[in-house]
Amino acid sequence: MKKIKMTTPLVEMDGDEMTRVLWGMIKDKLILPFVDLKTEYYDLGLLSRNATGDQITVDAANAARRLGVAVKCATITPNKQRMEEYPELTEMWKSPNGTIRAILDGTAFRAPIVLPAIRPVVKNWEKPITIARHAYGDMYKAVDMTTEEPGTATLTFRGRSGTEKTLDVQTVDGPAVWQGQHNKETSIRAFARSCFQYAIAQKQDLWFSAKDTIAKTYDGEFKRIFEEEYETSYRAEFEKLGITYFYTLIDDAVARVIRSKGGFIWALKNYDGDVMSDMVAAAFGSLAMMTSVLVSPDGTMEFEASHGTVTRHYYRYLKGEKTSTNPMATIFAWSGALKRRGELDGLPELVKFGQDLEAASLQTLADGVMTKDLLPLVEPGFQARGADSEEFLNAIAARLA
Ligand code: NAP
Ligand code: MG
Repeated sequence: MKKIKMTTPLVEMDGDEMTRVLWGMIKDKLILPFVDLKTEYYDLGLLSRNATGDQITVDAANAARRLGVAVKCATITPNKQRMEEYPELTEMWKSPNGTIRAILDGTAFRAPIVLPAIRPVVKNWEKPITIARHAYGDMYKAVDMTTEEPGTATLTFRGRSGTEKTLDVQTVDGPAVWQGQHNKETSIRAFARSCFQYAIAQKQDLWFSAKDTIAKTYDGEFKRIFEEEYETSYRAEFEKLGITYFYTLIDDAVARVIRSKGGFIWALKNYDGDVMSDMVAAAFGSLAMMTSVLVSPDGTMEFEASHGTVTRHYYRYLKGEKTSTNPMATIFAWSGALKRRGELDGLPELVKFGQDLEAASLQTLADGVMTKDLLPLVEPGFQARGADSEEFLNAIAARLA
């Protein structure tokens, strides 16, 4: 059989624990037999990050900027417990995802993998709902304080040039609690651009919601920047593709989302995205079926699974057990990256392969072969049997061939 050729490499970021084991199996069984795979390989496993003083993470992110497409395996973010588990660590290295996101100035889009045998809790959701959460500022970079006596709080901005702007926040007659929030024009704009880029790549409608009737200036600024970006840079492309950009108030959006069929991207401010992404994920079923794409304002995309390294399964694997760890989100990270590479490089065969890989994976589930985490989620009456990861991947490979 002739393997599918690639022209430009994609950036491959390897990771840790059980997902690193799955990574190798996915490549060996599902990709290398069919694709003449070209990657620039970066080992983001914890020990490799430690050995390079975390330079490898920075190098990987810069490679993603240069090549435009990356696929990433889940990685350990060290905490106190990990410092004991790995005594050779010279530092409590920062989250690789945080480092990469900062370098790409990107927004993470989380989307569930949906299949007929597992119905979302919201019965009318037929297609995935992708959540885009702004990952900078607001409550997450706020300052808070409590005060005890009657008095007045003011908000003052001191410009570097010496200008000053002051507002009265409130005069209170007793103990009170206060918070100061901010966001940056550049960050909101980068968020908006990433959202429009991703909507175009997915050919899906983009919704954005905030509360500009109450926060007229603050949320109004988000609304204004989104509209400005849309009008100046993206409207023509949206109209060509027949997709829409739609702004509505957050409370109206919630009601519409619940009644919708799904199949769109929902952009949200930091706190709204934090809450809604967990709600939508829970309603669709399983963390193991959640994919994530980091999109930068210039259209660079890094594909990954939303879940972590599945540590509990890894320790059973080390004891020689066969685990039933679900590889779907990691497979879809690979298929997403290959499809994007194919689109950018004008390689329809590579795009087709990514689609076939997804179809074979979904067909395997539809045939009732699945990892054990999914068994409790299937519709009553659907016949399914639990497979270990290797059996499941072999079943996909057989269908793909
Ligand atoms: P996790 O790896 O997502 O796993 C939590 C639990 O969810 C697992 O123990 C398992 O439940 C279930 N699960 C998650 N993915 C699964 C899959 N593919 N198949 C089957 N079950 C799955 O989260 P964690 O245990 O909190 O974190 C482990 C490590 O991952 C940490 O070191 C953390 O820093 C890292 N992490 C990395 C990323 C990333 O790189 N993007 C994201 C999150 C966490 P059962 O054990 O009940 O089967
Ligand atoms: Mg949350």
